[in-house]
Amino acid sequence: MALRTGDQYKEGQAKIKHNVYINGKKIENLEDNPNTKTVLDATAKVFDLGMEPQYNEIMNVASPLLGEKVSRNVHPSRSPKDLEMRAEMGLLCSQKLGTCNYRCVGCDTIHGTASVTYEMDQKLGTDYHKRFIEWLKYIQKNDLAVSGGVMDVKGPRDLRPGEGDPDHYVRVVEKRSDGVVLRGAKMHQSGAIGADETLVIPGVATIKGEEPYAVACAVKNSQKGITYISQYNAMSAEREFIDDNSKLGNPQYGQRETCLMVFDNVFVPNERVFMCGETDYAHMLLLRFAKQHRMTCGGVCKAGFMDLIIGGTQILAEYLGLDKAPIIRQQITEMVKVREISYGCAIAAAYKGEEEPKDSGFCLPNDALGNAAKLNTCDGFWEVMKWAGDIAGGLVVTMPSEKELENPVTGPLVEKYLKVRVSAKDRMRMTKFLQNWVAGLHGVGTWHGAGPRQNQMIMLYRDTDFEAKKQMAKELAGLKD
Ligand SMILES: Cc1cc2nc3c(=O)[nH]c(=O)nc-3n(C[C@H](O)[C@H](O)[C@H](O)COP(=O)(O)OP(=O)(O)OC[C@H]3O[C@@H](n4cnc5c(N)ncnc54)[C@H](O)[C@@H]3O)c2cc1C
Repeated sequence: MALRTGDQYKEGQAKIKHNVYINGKKIENLEDNPNTKTVLDATAKVFDLGMEPQYNEIMNVASPLLGEKVSRNVHPSRSPKDLEMRAEMGLLCSQKLGTCNYRCVGCDTIHGTASVTYEMDQKLGTDYHKRFIEWLKYIQKNDLAVSGGVMDVKGPRDLRPGEGDPDHYVRVVEKRSDGVVLRGAKMHQSGAIGADETLVIPGVATIKGEEPYAVACAVKNSQKGITYISQYNAMSAEREFIDDNSKLGNPQYGQRETCLMVFDNVFVPNERVFMCGETDYAHMLLLRFAKQHRMTCGGVCKAGFMDLIIGGTQILAEYLGLDKAPIIRQQITEMVKVREISYGCAIAAAYKGEEEPKDSGFCLPNDALGNAAKLNTCDGFWEVMKWAGDIAGGLVVTMPSEKELENPVTGPLVEKYLKVRVSAKDRMRMTKFLQNWVAGLHGVGTWHGAGPRQNQMIMLYRDTDFEAKKQMAKELAGLKD
């Protein structure tokens, strides 16, 4: 069974006794809560996309490990073409969901871990890669949803791991003959509550003396000692209290659901441990994961989100009779420009991807282009939100509830006064859709997902060959060394 349907994924989730808390209450079945349910629905949709023949090449791939078709979400890319399809999968999922593909971070931690464990086995004589590949075969065979546990809670940012509360970075607290015991917490975990497994990798570039924090391993959903504390905000409350989801901005798939994932003495058997104490390689794993994730989460994924914002804005411009105005066309073109740059840089990062490390068979994107994609997204997404809010008008934040339309007193008034070229109902529906994008969680979410701006700036500066550029300038200017 190398490919599951959305229903089969949900059947698997129904067998898990979830240890999830939201708004102070415990949830054992994610279907029972309107917010946690969106994670199941969105993830199920990703599984179902894999069943649609027109998306087969994007969503699925022949696995060299199994010799059969598997989901691309659990396949480490082996060529630039593979990377390109990985990028297209990110774009497609964003366009179809309007929220996270909750298998995305897991896919990118799989890329980083495949590449780094290969190198560790070659250079250190460990068997981490063999273990990882065995685990990956099991994941592929059963088509499991994997989330990616990278970001530690960190505590005060000016302290190294262990300098403050030692549990602020996930660490090994005990090594046993048959495995390790983990403690700590990962933060902002996209869709981890609805994943079958989480691939945990270091969230910090460790240095000598920080060996307990250099840990990578796989854990099962809600296994003993793991607690998930879901995010909760005004949009969560709105979904909880509304009696008709169709009046929400993203009715079925909701906002991007994350959680605090706490590890309280979690035992991980050796066969699921892929790094334990190798501080130099923890750094390498974090960098290779980031290289992959900036192309996807930072680039194509947000290009897909921008497609939805641009589409919604164009519709409202037409409804409002603005679409022919040159200034409005210019603003929408600005939005398209930002979208195309993020998409273009991400696809170029895939095309320029290279095998890493040599002879491993695993391929990672070009770092500079991936960072450029994410940087453009960091800055540009706010621009896109700005123009969408500008064109749709103040109604994006001042709109009455669509439920007024059902009230015999206020309904006719709202219909009369909010109608434009189309009915008030259609205008309000699309305005609510845009509210979800421009007056919700997506600005900050997009900025920080795959790392805040400064991270990419540091990487771009560090990796740029300034000497080569200086030489070119000198040569043409006629300057001698
Ligand atoms: C919607 C969303 C989904 C996410 N999904 C996942 C996921 O699935 N898995 C996962 O592991 N993570 C996930 N993340 C985490 C994401 O990678 C982090 O939010 C991001 O890396 C920033 O970390 P932070 O939130 O702790 O902010 P911080 O790192 O605290 O950053 C805040 C500011 O402080 C600056 N800063 C931080 N440290 C220093 C320092 N030492 N010196 C100077 N400046 C500093 C930063 O540059 C930034 O300007 C997600 C985040 C979001 C918002």
